[in-house]
Amino acid sequence: MLKGKSAIITGSTSGIGLGIAQVFAGQGCDLMINGFGDAAEIEKVRSDLEKTYGVKVVYSGADMSKPAEVAGMVEAAEAAFGKLDILVNNAGIQYTAPVEEFPVEKWDAIMAINLSAIFHAIRTALPGMKKRNFGRIINVASVHGLVASTHKAAYVAAKHGVLGLTKVVALETAEQNITCNAICPGWVLTPLVAKQIEDRAKANGQTFDQAKDELLSEKQPSKQFATPEQLGNLAAFLASDHGAQMTGVALPMDGGWVAR
Ligand code: NAD
Repeated sequence: MLKGKSAIITGSTSGIGLGIAQVFAGQGCDLMINGFGDAAEIEKVRSDLEKTYGVKVVYSGADMSKPAEVAGMVEAAEAAFGKLDILVNNAGIQYTAPVEEFPVEKWDAIMAINLSAIFHAIRTALPGMKKRNFGRIINVASVHGLVASTHKAAYVAAKHGVLGLTKVVALETAEQNITCNAICPGWVLTPLVAKQIEDRAKANGQTFDQAKDELLSEKQPSKQFATPEQLGNLAAFLASDHGAQMTGVALPMDGGWVAR
C-alpha cells in the first residue's frame, strides 16, 4: 500500500515506533528511523529492515527535545528521499508522580518531547507537503489524550495537546490532500510500560505477571495488550489512499478503555 512513499517515524528504535517501521517497510515504504539506543543495535535494526523488505532505510539520531534537531531531521529526510510523504510523530516518554511532587524538569521534558517536537516536525514538513499536494501526518497520542489517570499530569496534558494540534493541522491542510490524525493506544507492552509494571510490582510486593494482570484489568476491558504490529497496521491504513478522507480524528486502539 505504501510503495514509492517515504516516511519519518520518530522514536522507532523501540516499541510502537519499531512496530510501525516494520509494517511500513513491509508495505514498500522508504524510512527514516529515529530514536536513542546502542549504536550497533540501531544499525542492526536499520540494515535488517533494508535487507528484509528491500526498501531504503536511513537513521537520524535527532533529539526530539531539541527544536533545531527536529527540524534538521525533517530536512535530512527530504534530502535523503527527495520528498517526505508521511510523518509519524511517535517518540514519547513517561514519568509518574502526584502533581505537587512532579519534578519541574520532568514536566518540561515531557512537554518538549511528547508535544512540542510534534509541532516542530509538522511546521518543518508542511511547506514541502503543500508544494507537492500530498501528505500524511500521524501522531501517536494515547488514550491519555482523551481521558486522565492519576499521577500523569504532564503526560495527560501533553497528549490532550497533541489531539488539539492534530485538529488544527487537519483544518489548515484539508484542501491540500494532506491528512493529520492521531492514534490513541491503550496499554501496549513496550519498555515504557514494562517500567510502570516493574514499579507497581515493587510497590505492591507482587510478581511482574501479577502487576501486569492488575494493570490491564483496571483500565483495559479486553485484558489484553494492543501490539505494535496492530498499531503499525492502523498507521499504514491512515497513510494509504484508503485513509484520504479521514482527517482530524483521534482513533483509540485500547481494548475498550475509553468506552466505559
Ligand atoms: P518506548 O519507550 O518503547 O519507545 C520510545 C521511543 O522514543 C524509543 O525509540 C526512544 O529512543 C525514543 N525517544 C525517547 N526520547 C527521545 C528523544 N528525546 N528524542 C528521540 N527519540 C526519543 O515507548 P512506546 O511505548 O513504544 O511509546 C511510543 C509512543 O506511544 C509514545 O508517544 C507513547 O506515549 C505512546 N503510547 C504508548 C503506550 C503504551 O502502552 N506503550 C500507550 C499509549 C501511547
